[in-house]
Amino acid sequence: AKGAGKGRWCRYQSELHTAIVERLELRAALTEAVEKLSFSVEYQPIVDMRTGVAVGFEALARWHHPARGPVPPEQFIGLAEETGLIEPIGDWVLRQAVGAAARWHADRGERGTPYVSINVSARQLRTPGFVATVRAALAAADVPPDRVMLEITESLLLRDEEPVWSELSELRAHGLRVAIDDFGTGFSSLSYLQQMPADVLKIDRSFTETVASSRRQRLLVEGIIRLAGTLGLDIIAEGVETEAVRTILLDMGCSSGQGYLFSRPLRDPDALRWLRGDPPP
Ligand code: C2E
Ligand code: CA
Ligand code: CA
Ligand code: CA
Repeated sequence: AKGAGKGRWCRYQSELHTAIVERLELRAALTEAVEKLSFSVEYQPIVDMRTGVAVGFEALARWHHPARGPVPPEQFIGLAEETGLIEPIGDWVLRQAVGAAARWHADRGERGTPYVSINVSARQLRTPGFVATVRAALAAADVPPDRVMLEITESLLLRDEEPVWSELSELRAHGLRVAIDDFGTGFSSLSYLQQMPADVLKIDRSFTETVASSRRQRLLVEGIIRLAGTLGLDIIAEGVETEAVRTILLDMGCSSGQGYLFSRPLRDPDALRWLRGDPPP
């Protein structure tokens, strides 16, 4: 029995070792990716679910690993935050996304230009000069601030209100919009929510996907939608995958949504095509 225990311990040790080595390798690869800019940005349409017309696009980062191929954000955003690499990556995504918005703007003229919605991490918001960086990116691309939205996760807004909230208030004063991302996964109290410097509330996919199957979830989401209305927040449902979910959300008064029912995230040329109403190639 003792021998078997020792075997297990050794196996555990070697698995731990492998995990550490993998992590170090991933970290080295991510550092190199930042030097070589081996990233891209995809854009997922945010649509008016009544008409199917895109009102905006969410920018989503992609990492192209030389050996592993595309690495999903779940596997590198966390690491990027820990190592501080999120700052150069986030800056790059910001400039790409604002550049794309400028192209959409040029294509569509003054009317009906979609906004771009950009995920911002805790670390980026805490970097001194973040507001200036954002404003400089908009000025360089000549994009009006109301065509840009920043997505901040609910849990981040709860963690350290003061410094983060004042940055967000400043950005809003300059005309940008702020969305509370993944709403429902944190634990905002009502009084908090009322004071948050935000314009939009994004309902997390974990809520959206269940409205068609559970009455309880439906009531919950209906409550969130009503709450948003009371607080004067716009609402976007993420992860809309089926016609049934779309219909239920519309009935509840939620008209903006994104999800595979409408489109997967697209590369910029395809996003532009989507905007023009051309069928995908
Ligand atoms: P998120 O902000 O909640 O973004 C939505 C995620 O859901 C995206 O995954 C999107 O591709 C996926 N999605 C959209 N519609 C559907 C659907 O109908 N069904 C399902 N099952 N999934 C759907 P993605 O692109 O893998 O991004 C994952 C997360 O990584 C994002 O979650 C966001 O939190 C983070 N992220 C992505 N890009 C950035 C970035 O540039 N900066 C930061 N800080 N975080 C980012
Ligand atoms: Ca998001
Ligand atoms: Ca989200
Ligand atoms: Ca989510």
